[in-house]
Amino acid sequence: MITIDGSEGEGGGQVLRYAAALALLTGEPFTIANVRGGRAKPGLMRQHVTALEAAAAVGSAECSGLTVGSRELTFRPGSVVPGEYHFAIGTAGSTALVVQTVLVPLMLADAPSRLVIEGGTHAASAPPFEFLSQTLLPVLERMGPRLSVTLDRHGFYPRGGGRIMLDITPAPLTAIACMERGTFKAGKVEALVAGIPFDIADRELKAARKVLADWPDDAFAPVQLSAELGPGNALLITAECEHVTEVMSAFGQIGIPAERLAKTAAKRMAGYLGSGAFAGPYLQDQLLLPFAMAGQGAFTTVKPSEHSRTAAALIARFTGRQFSFGEDAEGRWLASLG
Ligand code: ATP
Repeated sequence: MITIDGSEGEGGGQVLRYAAALALLTGEPFTIANVRGGRAKPGLMRQHVTALEAAAAVGSAECSGLTVGSRELTFRPGSVVPGEYHFAIGTAGSTALVVQTVLVPLMLADAPSRLVIEGGTHAASAPPFEFLSQTLLPVLERMGPRLSVTLDRHGFYPRGGGRIMLDITPAPLTAIACMERGTFKAGKVEALVAGIPFDIADRELKAARKVLADWPDDAFAPVQLSAELGPGNALLITAECEHVTEVMSAFGQIGIPAERLAKTAAKRMAGYLGSGAFAGPYLQDQLLLPFAMAGQGAFTTVKPSEHSRTAAALIARFTGRQFSFGEDAEGRWLASLG
């Protein structure tokens, strides 16, 4: 039984998702005290409960302490059973983060799976659908499995109600090296609005254009979605390179000016493009688990995040496999294993 202090490192929901995924992959049970102890409102939130329920269902696990607000949790995995699963978060909690909990175990299962997940698809502090479909899954497919995801309906904060469907055809994971992103092919900035004033999209695009000044005018486009999906707003900034497509995002929030959130996301993209690295700040922590299960591999990236350091520490505890992070002379980082 591995004992985890949930306030250590990043101290949020990622600790739970990574621990559950690692338990399914290694068969090792764990217990966590101080769940989300690093957050202003500690304890399990609805989306964490669903992510752990998903892990328990997929991995025939016994789990205690699985209620909203719970600060202590024990998880005893059984065997991973591939198949068709439907998980409904019931809030705008992230569908992509439920995927994050069960994806790698199902990529290594002995038969295909189909997941239908309902909740948020475009909300703050989580991967938007486009990051999943264009950034993360294409890299993972290079390791062997076949993965395809579709967006049936957008889900914005606070309403939720989004729906995605993910098909997973497993395969043994091949170690890969992702050193170069290759040549820049195209940039795209989309401002999605649903049931809110359309000029918010224009303001976001204008602010993003100031930062990404060398992207052509036709790279910037507003996207009006059906008002019944709203209220909702997301800015998606996509850089398609030869070997990887990165999506940086921002989500409209009451009290935060559209210009400010657009500028922050555009600057994040500019920083990534300037770094010359393969993986941006979010792809970084999400590649660690599949790379660890492949047993070897390396990728270039930006400065390691606290999420990555925390994920790497959990991987080492469950599997004994150690990532090292090193900076090269040009300021690019290398995450490598083995
Ligand atoms: P908490 O509420 O405790 O912060 P959480 O479960 O909502 O927990 P984190 O623990 O912060 O979230 O983990 C967020 C995960 O989502 C990380 O894997 C991070 O890389 C990813 N992520 C966050 N924002 C983005 C984004 N804009 N694009 C892609 N991935 C993102």
